Amino acid sequence: MRTLYRSSRVRTLSYPATGEWVLVDGRHVERVGIGEVPDADRVVDLPGTTILPGFVDTHVHLTGTGVHHQAPGLASAGSAADLLSVAREVAQARVGPVYLHGWDESGWADRTLPSVDQLDGIADRPLGLARVDGHLVLVDRAALSEIDTREPGVELDAAGEPTGRLTGPAAQAAKRWFATHLSEHDVEELQLEGASLAVAHGVTTIHEMSMPAERGMRDLEILRGHRARLPLDVVSYVATTDISSVIDLGLPRVGGDLPVDGSIGARTAFVREGFVDRDDDPRGYFGDDELAQYFHDGHLAGLQVGVHAIGDAAIEQVVRTWERVYQSLDSRQRRHFRARRHRIEHFEMADPQVIERAAMLGLGVSVQPTFDARWGSPGGLYEQALGPERARSMNPFRDLVRRGMEVGAGSDSPITTIDPLVGVAAFEAHHDPEQRLGREEAIRVFTLGSARLAHQEDKKGSLEPGKHADFAVYDVDPLEVASLEGVRPVLTVSLGRDVYAA
Ligand SMILES: [Zn+2]
Repeated sequence: MRTLYRSSRVRTLSYPATGEWVLVDGRHVERVGIGEVPDADRVVDLPGTTILPGFVDTHVHLTGTGVHHQAPGLASAGSAADLLSVAREVAQARVGPVYLHGWDESGWADRTLPSVDQLDGIADRPLGLARVDGHLVLVDRAALSEIDTREPGVELDAAGEPTGRLTGPAAQAAKRWFATHLSEHDVEELQLEGASLAVAHGVTTIHEMSMPAERGMRDLEILRGHRARLPLDVVSYVATTDISSVIDLGLPRVGGDLPVDGSIGARTAFVREGFVDRDDDPRGYFGDDELAQYFHDGHLAGLQVGVHAIGDAAIEQVVRTWERVYQSLDSRQRRHFRARRHRIEHFEMADPQVIERAAMLGLGVSVQPTFDARWGSPGGLYEQALGPERARSMNPFRDLVRRGMEVGAGSDSPITTIDPLVGVAAFEAHHDPEQRLGREEAIRVFTLGSARLAHQEDKKGSLEPGKHADFAVYDVDPLEVASLEGVRPVLTVSLGRDVYAA
């Protein structure tokens, strides 16, 4: 079955740079051309439109995206009272445990969080409200009674009573409890909802960051069970140190969002000089030897290994550990090391020296430009936590690209919107003008760059004969339109299927 998509302009991101139509044979691009059109079984006329290769989002939590989409009001809550009233509304409409995601107090006039007594007043059953970065969860006493409160990360008041604020292992335990109390059908629906949202924004491939510590292996098993029915392609990364478990699943990669540290928002990132508004000393989640063992075993098993690292100390630890693993290899093994493109997710507090060292090792970085748009501006969250000087040098996108690093981009949805054009706009509007990327460059990072991070550049990221028929059709040209605000595809095609139409 051959389908001809006729538009005004096809941006191939390859050579030749533009065409007027795409001929699709089954799941693949047969040809992109100009002028005389070939025969096809089906012709889709899209006059005046521009076609771009499908976007590849390198960092998505699909079930979480569905959860977030269930209560969008949480993200726009402007105070603790707002947050409680949104939670109350959702709780009243439901029967089981209530777990919601997306609040962000960094923009509130009064950043005081609700107390455990106030949380107890929302529902007479377990309630969990996760901060936008997922690293801080507010829970009521009913939820506290379901988890082991001896876990590290249960905040206590002066009297030794839990405040309802959970971070680290305790936050993960709470998330895991909520996740395992959803039915399989509910999980499928949430994943489908997340995937539908992605294709409505032109995303045709996601790198799914599975978090067994939060959702158990069940979330991944459910996803793999119905992935053929999803409207987009899923590349799974599993945040585990259990290498044999991913080999059993047939995956060529391990880790992904496996946290070496936490986040700036939750003040759990592993940063060298601490947080300006905290006295405690930030720590990483891994000892050096433990991390080296993991990297070494993953590498020797032939896998691509990825970890989450945000703070400067965490990033340095990861790069230093990879250097140590590299040193331990023989010359034949070293020759193939760079090609593995071991990954670092986020890579936010990277200085020029650590960038150089990471580049030498061929490490790939999966960045989230929208983090900068949201938290990187003067007076924003990063400045509140780190002071102006350290905040200013964060997320040096231009330096990464200039150094020739493997750079791909993602949303970390549901932490930020799964809309890649919001990410492209964030690349263009970086808080430091020196670190901005141009429009086309930003789109290349979000397509070809992202595809390369999963070793899929032979299949995805540009429109060429033999590659996957993954593309998005716009009624403006996203490379030329002045503002990308509100620009959405009119049609999205994934593996030759029309998966979304406006
Ligand atoms: Zn992460």
